Amino acid sequence: MKSAQIGIVGGGLSGLYAAHLLEQMGVTDYVLLEAKPYLGGRLSSPLSESNADKLPTEFSHFDLGGTWYWPDIQPRLDRVIKQFGLKTYPQNEVGEMIIDRANFAKPMRVNGYISSPPMMRLAGGMNSLILAVANSLQSQRILTGHAVHEITLNKSQVELKIKTPRGKQLSITVNHVLIATPPRIATCTIKYSPNLPDHIFESWQDVNTWMAPNAKYLAVYDKPFWRSAGLSGEARSDNGPLGEIHDASIPNEAAALFGFLQLPALSRSTMTERKLKAMCRAQLVRMFGPEAENIKYDYLKDWATDKYTSTSADITSNHGHSLAPSPTISSGVWRRKLFGISSEWSMLLPGYIAGAIDAATNGVQKLQKEMLQKHSDITNVEEKI
Ligand SMILES: Cc1cc2nc3c(=O)[nH]c(=O)nc-3n(C[C@H](O)[C@H](O)[C@H](O)COP(=O)(O)OP(=O)(O)OC[C@H]3O[C@@H](n4cnc5c(N)ncnc54)[C@H](O)[C@@H]3O)c2cc1C
Repeated sequence: MKSAQIGIVGGGLSGLYAAHLLEQMGVTDYVLLEAKPYLGGRLSSPLSESNADKLPTEFSHFDLGGTWYWPDIQPRLDRVIKQFGLKTYPQNEVGEMIIDRANFAKPMRVNGYISSPPMMRLAGGMNSLILAVANSLQSQRILTGHAVHEITLNKSQVELKIKTPRGKQLSITVNHVLIATPPRIATCTIKYSPNLPDHIFESWQDVNTWMAPNAKYLAVYDKPFWRSAGLSGEARSDNGPLGEIHDASIPNEAAALFGFLQLPALSRSTMTERKLKAMCRAQLVRMFGPEAENIKYDYLKDWATDKYTSTSADITSNHGHSLAPSPTISSGVWRRKLFGISSEWSMLLPGYIAGAIDAATNGVQKLQKEMLQKHSDITNVEEKI
């Protein structure tokens, strides 16, 4: 393939959902380029990241990245989830929680609480949304292991320079590009020729990639032993290494706890994975008792070391949600050529899973307006959303 009408850079939820919307418009002349060997970006699972044959099935569908969504305040994402026929269930919060304060000798049990609005999870994990959207696509032009490293403007055409899985160079010419990588990643992994306007480049660079500096530890058990002890699996700790712990069990499938590491990324980088896992295991035993020792499998996912999610700026900057930059470039030679569509480009919900749907929808609508001026055979996507 040498050319396509549209190039989509990034195969997380935003890139895949944009491809889905394009196909609804009747546009199949696009190519989606994903740098990693698998789709999903920050919605991954042990199954999506590893060789499935090597994993026990009950270990497969846990969320390593995004986990929860809030249907009451994220109705568009809720509609998409229902449209794809995916089942949801609430985060288990029934029972007491454990608090481990630095100045207390022993972790304490306290009354738990049920979040409101409810935090929902997907049966099959959030990666099942990725699979559902990817499976809905007709196009064979979804290329994994293809990292875009340069975007060059040649008159009115845009050339995407790509490194293939075998390390070869590939070039694809397109009319428009949907950037479905976090804005900061789009400035670090891709060179632009000619340069993007300074204010655009800086505004992209300034955006924190949501959760990029975080790491998750997952411990899988035979049964959710904490529930029979009247515990919800929720815990908070000042002592760490896990700061916030939750029940990660999958109904009728598997029992597990997961926690976010509170140790900063720079401290983690000085330790081996083996050491970090040993510290997490010891903490679970200290907080949940001796049964927590009977871990069947455990998994550590450090997003700070994932070069297509996190940069040195994410590790050292503050970690809040940034305001979304403009999804389009309003003047100069790049005008109407690049459209930012990853979650961080969502004005409403920047950084969230729902933001990926929002930003992709917004970006495709803007692109559609641009294309409608040239072609009359494109279905109005607003009628479909
Ligand atoms: C630990 C963690 C927990 C989270 N928890 C929640 C939660 O509970 N609820 C919630 O709403 N959100 C949560 N999030 C955020 C949520 O996961 C993201 O908002 C969402 O997945 C973003 O999707 P995206 O497609 O916009 O971006 P991404 O998923 O980041 O996708 C970008 C894709 O672009 C690819 N890429 C990057 N550079 C290139 C390149 N040069 N060429 C080609 N491809 C490239 C990447 O490999 C990646 O696949 C969490 C995130 C993390 C990491």
